[in-house]
Parts: sequence; C-alpha cells; structure tokens
Amino acid sequence: MIFDIMTLFPEMIENACNYSIMKRAVQAGIFSVNTINPRDFTLDKHKKVDDTPYGGGAGMVLMVQPYVDAYESITKSDKSATIMLSPQGEPLNERIVNELAVYDQIIMLCGHYEGFDERIREIIQPREISIGDFVLTGGELPALCLIDAVSRKIEGTLGKIESADEDSFSNGLIEYPHYTKPREFRNLKVPDVLLNGNHKEINDFRLKKSIERTQKRRPDLYEKYIKNQ
Ligand code: SAM
Repeated sequence: MIFDIMTLFPEMIENACNYSIMKRAVQAGIFSVNTINPRDFTLDKHKKVDDTPYGGGAGMVLMVQPYVDAYESITKSDKSATIMLSPQGEPLNERIVNELAVYDQIIMLCGHYEGFDERIREIIQPREISIGDFVLTGGELPALCLIDAVSRKIEGTLGKIESADEDSFSNGLIEYPHYTKPREFRNLKVPDVLLNGNHKEINDFRLKKSIERTQKRRPDLYEKYIKNQ
C-alpha cells in the first residue's frame, strides 16, 4: 500500500508517521507514505498556492493549477483511490476504512485556509471524506487519521499483541472493558471471571459487556446489531 499525501505541510505527515506502530510498519515495508507539495508545482516566482475568493469574503482559496498539476504528476496504480479530506465529505467510519484497505494506492488531498477552488473537485473528482462535523485548520490531521486507520487493516502492520479482531466496530459493537495488573486497586477488583481461565465464560462475559456498553453508549449501533442477530 502506498499513501501519497498532497499537502503544503509535508513535515506534519512525515513526523507523525515516525512513531510506534506506523514507524515499524513503514520500516518493514508494509506500507509507504510519500508527500507531494503543491507549492513545488507553482509557476510563479513567489510559489503562490492560494488567492482571495472571487465574489469576496474572508480567507484564501487554494488555487486550481498547483493542485491539479501536483495530482497529475503522481503515477497511479491500477487500484488507486483518490480522497479529498473535507468537512463536507462522507463521515469516516469503519466501513469506509475497510473499503479503502483493499486499494494498493491512496492519494489524499489536504486542504487549508478556506479550502479548495471548486474546479479542483471537478477535475480530480475525488471521494470526499470528513472525520466529523467540526472544522479543522487543515486536512493533515484527518489524513493522518485515515492513514492510521487504514494501515491497521493491512496485514503485518499490527503485531500479534495488537490484534484488531476484537476492537470496537469490528463486530458492530464497541469493545468490552479491559483490565491488567494489579488485581485490586483502591478496592476496585478485576472481575473474577477473567481470572478463572475458563475461555467460554470469559468470552461470554466479554460479549455481554460489549452489548451492554453499546446499548448504553451507542444506541444507533445497538439497534443495527440486534436487527442483524
Ligand atoms: N471552508 C471549508 C468549509 O466550510 O467546508 C472549510 C475549510 S477548512 C478550514 C480547511 C481544510 O481542512 C479543508 O479543506 C479540509 O482539507 C480540512 N478539514 C477541516 N475540517 C475537516 C474535517 N472535519 N474532515 C476532513 N477534513 C477537514
């Protein structure tokens, strides 16, 4: 899997991918993260990537030419997806993450300032994805969320100890509670069932907790889960 990230702030992407599980997976060659800076594709001596909006109003708009030229410079594989990070896009969820994990290249466009000249959308025709109903200053953090979430689905990124099989959303529920040592802290005890070594009982307990927690915290998911049983 190759992630090609179009950004005016490549260090934000490069630095964040240089830690923990993502760093290890990149070093192992499981996926790679490249950055492409639209500023390198400007045609004027000031390397201008944004300008004032036609029609007036606050903020600066990202210019069509550097973004389209930068996009067209990227070699596309046969199984490539193009994503624009945008608060106007489909809200990101586990289903979309799973859909994206089957591609071998994901190109992402990170916006900034007021966002993109509309013609960037018209020419590139990306799938637009939002990480939630709030507005950030730029698309780099959303792109990193997507890189992190999708890369966890690629075989080899997570070691055995970081298995995603039982994570929240994998079976339509949010996950059960976890405990580790010590057995007791300030009168709070680890539930006995987790200490008895009976795997069936442990699994039953975890499923029950998972269902209870989903019903309480995410009634929308609970309804779907019950319907599918
Ligand atoms: N004027 C735009 C609007 O109201 O839709 C918002 C522009 S925002 C300040 C700048 C950039 O940050 C966007 O182009 C996008 O790339 C990114 N961004 C901001 N919030 C986002 C979100 N919730 N999800 C994904 N990307 C987001």
